[in-house]
Amino acid sequence: TDTSMKYRRVLLKLSGEALMGNEDYGIDPIVIKALAAEIIEVQKAGVQIGLVIGGGNIFRGAGLAESGMDRVTGDHMGMLATVINALAMADALEKLGAFSRVMSAIKINEVCEDYIRRRAVRHLEKGRIAIFAAGTGNPFFTTDSAAALRATEIGAELLLKATKVDGIYDSDPKKNPGAKRYEQLSYDDVIARNLQVMDTAAFALCRDNSIPLRIYDMMQPGALMRILRGEPLGTLVHA
Ligand code: UDP
Repeated sequence: TDTSMKYRRVLLKLSGEALMGNEDYGIDPIVIKALAAEIIEVQKAGVQIGLVIGGGNIFRGAGLAESGMDRVTGDHMGMLATVINALAMADALEKLGAFSRVMSAIKINEVCEDYIRRRAVRHLEKGRIAIFAAGTGNPFFTTDSAAALRATEIGAELLLKATKVDGIYDSDPKKNPGAKRYEQLSYDDVIARNLQVMDTAAFALCRDNSIPLRIYDMMQPGALMRILRGEPLGTLVHA
């Protein structure tokens, strides 16, 4: 283990779209391999890392409901989409020589393990990269909520949210060239300034449990390692 690491156990949330790269659907093998390599780098440096992966690159319940599908059925499909992504990530990690386990919030025992908290912690302690699939297992939630939930359960010191923007801005940086990035915000600042960081349920869970959250740009190579060494990339949201 590398003693220069600031964190011992973290949870990383990757959106389904993160896996898509420049495609408009599904998984880009080059992108998932690059993400896997960055995750392995920090695991090898001694950081226990759990992942929550979204499913938006395949299906989202809300989107399916807009086209007329029953919302709960759509959410079930969305959760299954996260399992597909989790399996792809496990494969990418193992191809690069790491050990990983997919643990699902809904039972699909022929495909992966069930999520059991104590077992998840054991995997992390043994240096396996645990991938928490199927979100919270409940419709009407998102994988952001799942990330907040699993981070709390496993005692993660930091929740990382990898996005396409390098943090939280006071206005949309794509539309406003003068947009200013916040380096730090408290949970109360986020509410007072009405900033959109995560959905409300996920946000409430982080705030109530005082989980520090760092939003960063996943496209910046090496960012994950730098953050876990203590560099203040992106925006930190704290209690
Ligand atoms: N989902 C759900 N419950 C959960 C997590 C996810 O029903 O606890 C469903 C929901 O339909 C969601 C889809 O799975 O739209 C994919 O997850 P999400 O939208 O969070 O993926 P991301 O935007 O991160 O790719």
